[in-house]
Amino acid sequence: MQDTITKALIYEAQIRLYLIDNTQLLQNIFALNQELPRSHKLLLGKTISAMSILSGTLKGNQRMSLQVTLSNPRHKIFAEAEANGNVRGYLNGELLRSSEIAEKSMQDLIGPSGMIRVIKGSEMNQFTSITDMPNQNVIDDIANYFVQSDQTPTYLYSDIQLDNEASLLSSHALYAQLLPGAPPHLLSEVKMIVKANPDIFSKLNAEETSDSEATLIQLFGDAKIIGHSSSQFFCGCSKEMFHGMLYSLSEEEIKRSIERNEDIEAFCHICGKTYTFEQKEMQQLL
Ligand SMILES: [Zn+2]
Repeated sequence: MQDTITKALIYEAQIRLYLIDNTQLLQNIFALNQELPRSHKLLLGKTISAMSILSGTLKGNQRMSLQVTLSNPRHKIFAEAEANGNVRGYLNGELLRSSEIAEKSMQDLIGPSGMIRVIKGSEMNQFTSITDMPNQNVIDDIANYFVQSDQTPTYLYSDIQLDNEASLLSSHALYAQLLPGAPPHLLSEVKMIVKANPDIFSKLNAEETSDSEATLIQLFGDAKIIGHSSSQFFCGCSKEMFHGMLYSLSEEEIKRSIERNEDIEAFCHICGKTYTFEQKEMQQLL
């Protein structure tokens, strides 16, 4: 199942506006992280939701990798998006383990000295930039990255609704970027309109572009839908990727597993897949 990004230009093509209902994508992510407490779930969910809408801004073979380092530098969030809409992400082991100690708010988890590192581009042509997290809010701080490193005023919005058991009810995201020469107050207007009309997402339909356009015109006065793209969870791991891990085992360790007649299991912490390496595969390594 794929979620669809609706892409539009509003205010006489002065703002680029992308919207997505990415409930399906987040459902897939949360299915792998069911035990996470609320704040950890929201932190992961919001990061991935932002990446899913940002996948719509990538072209060709571009990808965007995000590494968020929280104030506790051992706590990290990783996420990645590709131009074809594939998105993946996870909390690192230390951050997962911190959820067992005490439940903190999202703001306290990030703390006062969080950092965002973004690598963007294609294989041949990559840009890395590091920005701080002055808002202690992963969505506003990713938007801040665009202001700091691209000098492009950007508004990002994510709304994730969880029920009392922290199960997902819905997830929506929006991206608005000021195009060159446009007055900055337009972005504040978008912000106000989105906050006042949280049902905007449920009115958009990829099959009925004219209806969606009418909805956006009603809200912003002027809108033109310029296209759609998909976004979906995709890990992309393979058994071959875990071969490297086997090579890092010492000869001793491999011999010991063979003697005990044990298979070695490798676990992908992004998608939850387990790869089994059998005796004969390990023998080939010796
Ligand atoms: Zn995987």
